Amino acid sequence: MKKYITDYAKLDREFAYYGDDLGVTVAGEITRFKVWAPFCSCVYLNLYTGGEGDNKIQTLVMSRGERGVWSVELMHHCYGAYYTYTLEFESSKRIETIDIYAKACGINGERGLVADFASLDPEGWEDIPRPRCENPVDAVIYECHVRDMSVDASCGIPESEWNKRGTFAGFTAEGTRCGKVTTCLDHLKELGITHVQLMPVADYATINEKDPFSGKYNWGYDPKNYMCLEGSYSSDAEEGEVRIREFKQLVADLHRAGIGVILDVVFNHTYFTELSAFHKTVPYYYHRLRGHGEFSNGSGCGNETASEHLMFRKYMLDALRFWVTEYKVDGFRFDLMGLHDIDTMNMLRDEMDKIDPQILMYGEGWTGGEPAYAADKLCYKWNSYSFGRIGLFNDNIRDGIKGGTFDLRNTGFVNGSDHARNAIKRGITANTRYKRLQGTADDLCWAFTPAQAINYCEAHDNNTLWDKLAISAKNYSEEERRRMDKLAAAIVILSQGVPFIQLGQDFLRSKPKVLPEGTPRTDNNIFDENSYNAPDFTNSIKWGDKERNLDVFLIYRALIALRKSSGLFRMRTPEELDAHLHFHDNNDIVTFELSDSEECFFVIFNNRRDERWIDLPYGNFYLRLSEETPRPVYRTVSGKVRIPPISFAVYKRL
Ligand code: CA
Repeated sequence: MKKYITDYAKLDREFAYYGDDLGVTVAGEITRFKVWAPFCSCVYLNLYTGGEGDNKIQTLVMSRGERGVWSVELMHHCYGAYYTYTLEFESSKRIETIDIYAKACGINGERGLVADFASLDPEGWEDIPRPRCENPVDAVIYECHVRDMSVDASCGIPESEWNKRGTFAGFTAEGTRCGKVTTCLDHLKELGITHVQLMPVADYATINEKDPFSGKYNWGYDPKNYMCLEGSYSSDAEEGEVRIREFKQLVADLHRAGIGVILDVVFNHTYFTELSAFHKTVPYYYHRLRGHGEFSNGSGCGNETASEHLMFRKYMLDALRFWVTEYKVDGFRFDLMGLHDIDTMNMLRDEMDKIDPQILMYGEGWTGGEPAYAADKLCYKWNSYSFGRIGLFNDNIRDGIKGGTFDLRNTGFVNGSDHARNAIKRGITANTRYKRLQGTADDLCWAFTPAQAINYCEAHDNNTLWDKLAISAKNYSEEERRRMDKLAAAIVILSQGVPFIQLGQDFLRSKPKVLPEGTPRTDNNIFDENSYNAPDFTNSIKWGDKERNLDVFLIYRALIALRKSSGLFRMRTPEELDAHLHFHDNNDIVTFELSDSEECFFVIFNNRRDERWIDLPYGNFYLRLSEETPRPVYRTVSGKVRIPPISFAVYKRL
């Protein structure tokens, strides 16, 4: 019979440990190891010279201290040593595992590493300031996978440096080009985004770090060691220090370019269940269980973690604090945040505030299955007011723009639906309690402030926008679909809230699916809607797309610049929206005015297949930006203006 815990509250009361010294602490010449393992009868520390293989130096017996914490001290610093714990339970069963508090590790995350972090800082590390972001609405977030950015030869990293491609070093390669267009770091700078959101860079399980180019690929939502870096993105996964140095360099390069770094963190489940280091160390404690001790599967990945258990809550706190202080990252995106309890997330927010209130925090307000915890205590989107300072992905504007993600043919505002105007209007108001929309689509009013709405229409999940348009707007010309794409970009970037774009969305990224030879291509299998382990052929950025679709890129760039140019696109409170945002009544399209005592913008989103003549507000205007040109047209206009089919336009009062 399984021996699982029935009274977590009692266990937490008697054993939860509040010290900040779990894992390895080096103080002067002393190295201390501490592990929380209250059920163990004996714990040993094993020291090795390598991250794998038969190279043990010694095994030391650890001693049990208060609250089930085992420790041992060495009278020297032991930097460079790899280590594991051997845990012995009453059953006399012995299990060897990596430390859940390991902050560095060897190849494939099997052993921890005692690393001298300060010695791995890049030049000038202490003097590079964290980019400032006064309010989350000032951010423009760009979601990127490290490997996708530079693994294709078209990224322009020369053949002589081929081993940089697909790695931390390749991500921030400078001066690289594909034909005439910029790639990698220069591309990020040119686009004008403020933050990159890196898909998981913490150690994950399914890529063999010995041979990362063997054709395998993964997004990284298969977490193994939550405080360690993934080895396949480093130039040498054998030496645990290398990935640390190279990732710090990536952060330094981005910070120097004024770009913040947001980490995608996957605390909601462990890739292994019984074989995870958590379960090996404290069986049945870190996961949520069902009535008879089975693992609950709220993540859809085999289990879910229990953030409400004090030692997992503390683990999340300690991990975030570590990433922020050691690597100076600027924010966190929580995968399946609906699985984390509200109290924990608010505590994390408070803790980040103590370090820097500008650190961004947002996540997915849903789960991947049925959690074993009360729905009113979890960070579901519908509980948004209970965690008002943590952002949520806005699936309402997403589906309003292009149609539902689960039916490829389903359409939204840009691809011809007549039923999405209210969703778009709500999106323009960041889904806050905007007074003058009350009574229309009230169920879409959930954000506490604009900062809580992360607006997007494309992310790593589901089809790319361009692929979705290819199927759902099949009866339109390619030229019309390009217009739809630009209109979608305008809605995401000019709405109140926080705009979020996927790498390559700005030049019509596509994810062609790899099919077994001979399989007939249909609408349903031509594109990959879940490319988590698809090969580079599907996932990598082909930079020739940027050159080919430069007109689209230039519109995205101009939209971002326009957003940054005026606070009217970045209002901070629902009250400001009430005062400065006014929809005009133009029947079947969407038009609105943003104005204060100094500026007035008039924005038109025309999703119709025919042109329209629209009344400008009172006064003289000029065309600040439109689907047709990224540059302003300095010709005075007033009264009625023509808006071409499927397009957007922004007029500014002179
Ligand atoms: Ca790994």
